[in-house]
Amino acid sequence: MNAQKLSKRLAKVASFVPTGAVVADIGSDHAYLPCYLVQKGIISQAVAGEVVKGPYESARRQVRAEGLANQIQVRLADGLAAVEQGDHVDTITIAGMGGPLIVSILEKHPEVLRSVTRLILQPNIHAKVIRQWALAQGWAILDEVILEEDDKIYEILVLQRGAMFLTDAEILLGSHLIAQRSAAFVQKWTKEIENWQRILQDLNKAEATPDIQAKREELQQLIQLVEGAL
Ligand code: SAM
Repeated sequence: MNAQKLSKRLAKVASFVPTGAVVADIGSDHAYLPCYLVQKGIISQAVAGEVVKGPYESARRQVRAEGLANQIQVRLADGLAAVEQGDHVDTITIAGMGGPLIVSILEKHPEVLRSVTRLILQPNIHAKVIRQWALAQGWAILDEVILEEDDKIYEILVLQRGAMFLTDAEILLGSHLIAQRSAAFVQKWTKEIENWQRILQDLNKAEATPDIQAKREELQQLIQLVEGAL
């Protein structure tokens, strides 16, 4: 992967960036995504934020090597603290982290989100936490994608402001992903069910304490919920 040829996962994230957007890519190890977006002429201004010095320096080197230092501001900062008011950022991308970390980044600087109209989030795990956050914070899911790359399955959520209603199954699985029912979706959740069934078998062998019983019921409900969508 490089700034000219993104991974399938990051290329999909890039595909949701509106033409002419001002993007902040948070956790921008190597700054490949903002460099790609500027080079393709999709955007002309971006911020690349990184909290760890090593990746921050890689991002700075990359932006300089591509001759994009006037268009991409690389900043060493924790999450949305990388964004300054004068940047006029309207689109935020956060990719390659767990859902809970993505949510904690979004929650830490709510003032930055005021000017933002689109969030493109790619959780490696626990996308559910992002859907719960979106539901509570007045963001609606515009689109969702699930894809497989290098034997890993990734989800991408595209949010815009608005109200939505999601059932428990939709919070866990994604309403768009349920409707698409792609091969990657079926593969991910079939594997998850098998995993839960293995745990359930082990719990069935254990002494039936109230805690064990509660865990069994929780797993049975989850399996039922997911099986209903597959
Ligand atoms: N976004 C790139 C991608 O999807 O390929 C890089 C993903 S990499 C696994 C996650 C990056 O996020 C790391 O470079 C890490 O240092 C950075 N990161 C983690 N927490 C962060 C935070 N609170 N603020 C900014 N960057 C963060």
